[in-house]
Amino acid sequence: MHIEESLKLDFKDVLIRPKRSTLTSRAQVELQREFVFHHSGKTYHGIPIIAANMDSTGTMEMAAALGKHQMSVALHKHYDEASLIAYFSGLQKKSTSFYSMGITQADFDKFSAVMNHAHNAIEYVCIDVANGYTEGFINFVKKVRTSYPHLTIMAGNVVTGDITEELILAGADIVKVGIGPGSVCTTRKMTGVGYPQLSAVIECADAAHGLGGQICADGGCVVPGDLAKAFGAGADFIMLGGMLAGHDECAGDLVERDGQQFKSFYGMSSRAAMDKYAGGVAKYRASEGKEVLLPYRGPVEASLLDILGGVRSACTYVGAHKLKELTKRTTFIRVTQQLNEVFG
Ligand code: 5GP
Repeated sequence: MHIEESLKLDFKDVLIRPKRSTLTSRAQVELQREFVFHHSGKTYHGIPIIAANMDSTGTMEMAAALGKHQMSVALHKHYDEASLIAYFSGLQKKSTSFYSMGITQADFDKFSAVMNHAHNAIEYVCIDVANGYTEGFINFVKKVRTSYPHLTIMAGNVVTGDITEELILAGADIVKVGIGPGSVCTTRKMTGVGYPQLSAVIECADAAHGLGGQICADGGCVVPGDLAKAFGAGADFIMLGGMLAGHDECAGDLVERDGQQFKSFYGMSSRAAMDKYAGGVAKYRASEGKEVLLPYRGPVEASLLDILGGVRSACTYVGAHKLKELTKRTTFIRVTQQLNEVFG
C-alpha cells in the first residue's frame, strides 16, 4: 500500500496574504479576461464565472442575468432539442453559453441535431461526467473534437494533472476540475473518492497551462473569498452551483414552510434528480447527491454584485490590477482558523 504523504488543501485551509498595492479603488480592478483557446483557436472575452449545468442553476433565465456582466451559464442537459435550437438560433450575437452533454450516442445525436438547426450558433460545449477518468469519456472528447474542430470544449470532471494533460491532448480546451467538493454532492461520503479542491486546482492548472489549456474550478465555493482563492490558485474559470441557487432565475417553484419561502436545490445525481429524469435510482447504483431547501433569495443580481465585489477587493489586497494578475500576486498561508464565529 502506497500512501501519498504530501498535504492536500481545501479553500478553508488557507488565506491569501495581503501585499503592497498601488491600487486606490476596487473600481480600478479589471475582472474581464481574454483567452485564446488551444484547439478551437477562438477568443473569449468575459468574466470567467459560469453557472453550473444543474437543472436549477443552468437555466436560460440565469444566462440572461449573468450575460449582463459578461458571465456565462452552462445550460443543463434536460432542455429538449426544440428549446435549445430556439435559444441558440435566437441569440443576437454569439453567446458564451455552454451546451452541456453527457457521453452517450443519444447525447451526441441530440447535439448534432441542435448544431444543424441552430446554424452552428453554438461555440462552447461542456462534456461532463461524474468520473472523467474512463477511456470511454476520453474517446468521446476525441470524437467531438474531430467532428467539430471549431468548438471550444470544456471537459471533466477530474482532479489530477496526468488526466488533465490527457484530456487536453484528446481535444479539450478547458478541463473541468472537481470530484466531491460540491454543496449537494455526496460522492466522498458514498464512495470515499475525492481530492481537496484547492490542491486539485493548483495541480491541474499547472498541468493545463503547460500545454496551453485552461481549467475550470468546479464546486466547493461557498463565499466570494473562495472564488478569489480558486483564481489565485490558477483557475481560469470557476463554476458555481450552490452560490447561485435559491434565486428567481433558478428553475423550480417556491415552497412555503411556516410562512417562509424556500427553493429546492438538489445534486444532479441525487435521488430527486434521478426520480425526475431517469424514472428513479437504478438498482445497481446509489445516489451521489442530496436535496436541500434553501431560503428564497430573490433576483440573482445582488448575489452577483457581492461575488464580483469580493473578487475585486481580493485583487486590491494583493495589488492585482487585473484578474489575470491574481495568480501571480497570490501567496497562500496555511491557517487553522479563518473566521471569527462568535456571533454565529
Ligand atoms: P457547488 O458550487 O454547488 O459547490 O458545486 C457545483 C458542482 O457540483 C456542479 O457543477 C457539479 O460538478 C457538482 N454536482 C452537482 N450535482 C451533483 C451530484 O448530485 N453529485 C455530485 N457528486 N456532484 C454534483
